[in-house]
Amino acid sequence: MHVFKFGGASVKDAASVKNVARIIREHHGNTPLVLVVSAMGKTTNALEQLCSHFMEGRRDEMLQLFERVKSTHIEIAKSLFEEQTDPIYNVLEQSFYQLYYYISESPGQNYNYEYDRIVSTGEIVSTQIVSAYLQKSGLVNRLFPARKLVITDAHFRDARVDWILSARAIQEQLIPYLQQKQDTEHPPLVITQGFLGGTPQGFTTTLGREGSDFTAAIIAYVLQAREVVIWKDVPGLLNADPKIFDNTLLLENISYQEAIELAYYGATVIHPKTLKPLLSKNIPLKVKSFFSPDKPGSLINDIGAMDKHMPSYIFKFKQVLASIFPKDFSFIAEQNMARIFADFAKHNVKINLMQNSALSFSVCFDMDRVKTPALLRDLKKNFNVKHNTDMELITVRHYEQAGIEDLLKGREVVLEQKSRTTLQMVVRSE
Ligand code: ASP
Ligand code: MG
Repeated sequence: MHVFKFGGASVKDAASVKNVARIIREHHGNTPLVLVVSAMGKTTNALEQLCSHFMEGRRDEMLQLFERVKSTHIEIAKSLFEEQTDPIYNVLEQSFYQLYYYISESPGQNYNYEYDRIVSTGEIVSTQIVSAYLQKSGLVNRLFPARKLVITDAHFRDARVDWILSARAIQEQLIPYLQQKQDTEHPPLVITQGFLGGTPQGFTTTLGREGSDFTAAIIAYVLQAREVVIWKDVPGLLNADPKIFDNTLLLENISYQEAIELAYYGATVIHPKTLKPLLSKNIPLKVKSFFSPDKPGSLINDIGAMDKHMPSYIFKFKQVLASIFPKDFSFIAEQNMARIFADFAKHNVKINLMQNSALSFSVCFDMDRVKTPALLRDLKKNFNVKHNTDMELITVRHYEQAGIEDLLKGREVVLEQKSRTTLQMVVRSE
């Protein structure tokens, strides 16, 4: 059994959906397949915005956005299903009506709960279109709602997976379907939504932005898949973000551990939670381009021989660098550290880099309009705090062969930290 994940960019319009069908037909052998699909294009961003309008009572803007999201999907459907009487139109009408009905009521108090109800529509309608289109083009399939496969707690918007309940649900529902002999020429095909889950009581949850990769890993883990392929608009895993770097290189084969490190430092290609389940069952993960499905792309598995072959560069912008000093004559030691960490934990702020000296503790973290001022306020109760915003954090893995000078042109290094494999620098643009 294989798992394919198609993200937003790979289903962003009618031509892309047709390409998904082509990839399944031409590049997938004779093994049962589970297809995990995200919302189309930038739909999740639009629905997120719609949710804000809903919560803040901006009804006109909300309805405008609703109409826009709906018509985008109907337009895509029109290019895929010429018959005006095709059942897909009813299906979509119903899904959008459910959303419309929901946002016609007044919002409750719990933003995250409302968010999951609203934003999940993106994945629902996208899988309805993809499933119906594949069916129409001869790829018989069945659409299973992820809400009933990925069982989570009620931590809306960032739900935690209940692995035992999910394993049971996935096995009970998918295995009988995947094992059946089909009368069609192709092996059994399951479609489900990425990013979505559901509580045991049946409330819809989401797994955190970009969580569809994780969905693919959950299903692969439970069903002991032979491999997972994430189809993307880039050739594979690159050693830097092509939006920032001109000469990026493809990482042909890296180990799970290396991929986890890259994700940890902020590389955004794969959702960080994806790798551990795959590692624990030794399921290879491929990252391939949906533009050139013949190319091998990148392979992540248990082989680390090539991990050190080239440096990788990870940039994080909008960083805050805070230097924290005890107010009294004490040094930065365990007591003070414990207080500082308690403040970071309380405000749920992840530390990207830290360094201490006798007299101060320096920390670099992501700027957040709400969290940062609240954190600084609390820290200042016990410490003197100086901070700079608009810093950048550059991480270089395997920096030995890296061209650091080029990287630092026009930048001033404010803080630097090195381990055997990783160089991190907090810099300011000059
Ligand atoms: N559609 C969701 C998002 O854009 C989940 C995903 O694409 O992985 O965050
Ligand atoms: Mg996406």
